[in-house]
Amino acid sequence: MRISVIGCGYLGAVHAACMAKLGHDVIGIDLDEHKIAELSAARAPFFEPGLEELLLDVQATGRLSFTTDLGAAKGSAVHFICVGTPQKKGENGADMTFVDAAVDALLPFLTEGDVVVGKSTVPVGTAGRLASVVRHVQPEADLAWNPEFLREGHAVSDTLAPDRLVYGVENGSEDHRSVTILDSVYQSALDAGTPRLVTDLPTAELVKTAANSFLATKISFINAMAELCDAAGADVSLLADAIGLDDRIGRKFLNAGIGFGGGCLPKDIRAFMARAGELGADQALTFLREVDAINMRRRTRVVELTRELCGGSLLGQRVTVLGAAFKPESDDVRDSPALSIAAQLQLQGAVVTVTDPEALANASRRFPELHYEKSTAAALRNADVILLLTEWREYLDLDPYETAESVAVQRVLDGRNVLDARKWRAAGWTYRGLGRP
Ligand code: NAD
Repeated sequence: MRISVIGCGYLGAVHAACMAKLGHDVIGIDLDEHKIAELSAARAPFFEPGLEELLLDVQATGRLSFTTDLGAAKGSAVHFICVGTPQKKGENGADMTFVDAAVDALLPFLTEGDVVVGKSTVPVGTAGRLASVVRHVQPEADLAWNPEFLREGHAVSDTLAPDRLVYGVENGSEDHRSVTILDSVYQSALDAGTPRLVTDLPTAELVKTAANSFLATKISFINAMAELCDAAGADVSLLADAIGLDDRIGRKFLNAGIGFGGGCLPKDIRAFMARAGELGADQALTFLREVDAINMRRRTRVVELTRELCGGSLLGQRVTVLGAAFKPESDDVRDSPALSIAAQLQLQGAVVTVTDPEALANASRRFPELHYEKSTAAALRNADVILLLTEWREYLDLDPYETAESVAVQRVLDGRNVLDARKWRAAGWTYRGLGRP
C-alpha cells in the first residue's frame, strides 16, 4: 500500500520506517529540512534504540523516502497525521495549529478513496471536526483516528508489535471502509494476534487521553504514598512491591521518584482538563489537577532534599546531575523533571553539572545556562553531592567504592529509588531516596 506520514518527529519517523518495514511504500513528510535531510541519509534525527538500523534496512529496499514537499502525499491511499500537539503557551489546552495546518495542506492532494488517519493525541471532538473538513473538499475520502501508544525508548518494537490497535471511524462500525484499509496496513500485527478495537471517533480520541491520565495518576498515587512514607518513616519501595503483588493493582508504574515528564503525559492531562471544561464536564477531571500538583511537588522536594543533604545551603555546592532526558533510552528533554530540578538548583546558587549519554545536545538548547559534561567520570569529579535523576543503565551500574574516589563529598540523592541503599551506605555514602527511610 502507498502510505504518507505527515510529521516525522518521535512518533512519525518511527511510524514511517516501521510501515516500510511491513512492506508498504512510504513517503515521510516534514516541514523541518534538517530532519528530512537526516532521515533521507538514513540517520535518526533523535536517539531511539533500533531506529537508525531500521532506517538503513528499509531505505535499501527503496520503499521509504522523505521530503518536505506535501504534494508528494498525492497518490498515497493512507495519510497518517503525526504532527505535534504541544501545550498552548500560557494555557492548559492543546495547540492544534500544527494538526489543522497539516490537514489543510493535505486537502488539495486527496483523491477518491483516500483515508486520512490521525495518530496525534488530540482533544476529543477534533476528529469529527476534521472529518467534515475532509468531506467538504473530497466527499469520497474518509478520516479515521488511530491513536498511538508507543513508548519512547521502545518505539520501534511498540510500532511493529503494538499491544492493541484502536480504529476510530465515523459510524463506529466494523463495516466502515476505513476498517478494511487499516486492516491491510496492520495485517502483520493482526496476524500475530494483536487485539483490534473499532470505535466511533470520540471514543478513539478519548482512549488515548484516558490511558495517559491513568498512567499519570498511578505515578502520582505512588508519589503521594512516598510523601506519606517520608512523614511516617516508612519505605515506599517495599510498599509498592507489596501492593503491586495484587494483580488488580500491578507493580508497573508504581516507582516513586521525581515524577513524570516528557512530551506527552504532562501536556496531555492538562489538555484533557481544558477540554473537559469546554464540554462542561470539568468536575470529572478535577482529580487530574491534584495528579499534576503531586507531580510538580516532587521537583521541589528534590531541591529541598538536596539542600538538606548539603547541610542547609546550596550556595556554591557542586551538584552533579546524572541524567537529563525525561527517561532512559531517550534523548527527549521536553518537560524533563531532571532538567527542571537541575535548573532550579542552579538558580538557588548551586554549581550544577549535568551529564547524560544521549540528551546533552537537546538539554543545552533548552537550558544553555547549565554546565554539561559528556563523560560521567568528568561530571562526577569533585562533586559535593550527586543526584541520580534519569535511570540510565550506566548510572545504576556505578560502583559506590570507585565513585567515592572521584567526588569531594560522598552524598547521593537517588531520585528514582534504583540504587541499592545498603551497598552505597556500606561504602561510606550518605544516601537519600524518595520516600525511603
Ligand atoms: P515531535 O515534535 O517530535 O514531532 C512533530 C513533527 O511534526 C515535527 O518534526 C514537526 O516539524 C512536524 N510538523 C509540524 N507541522 C507540520 C506540518 N504542517 N507538516 C509536516 N510536518 C509538520 O512530536 P512527537 O513526539 O512525534 O508527537 C507527535 C504527536 O504524537 C503528538 O500529538 C503526541 O502527543 C503524539 N504521541 C507522541 C508519542 C511519543 O512518545 N513521542 C507517543 C504517542 C503519541
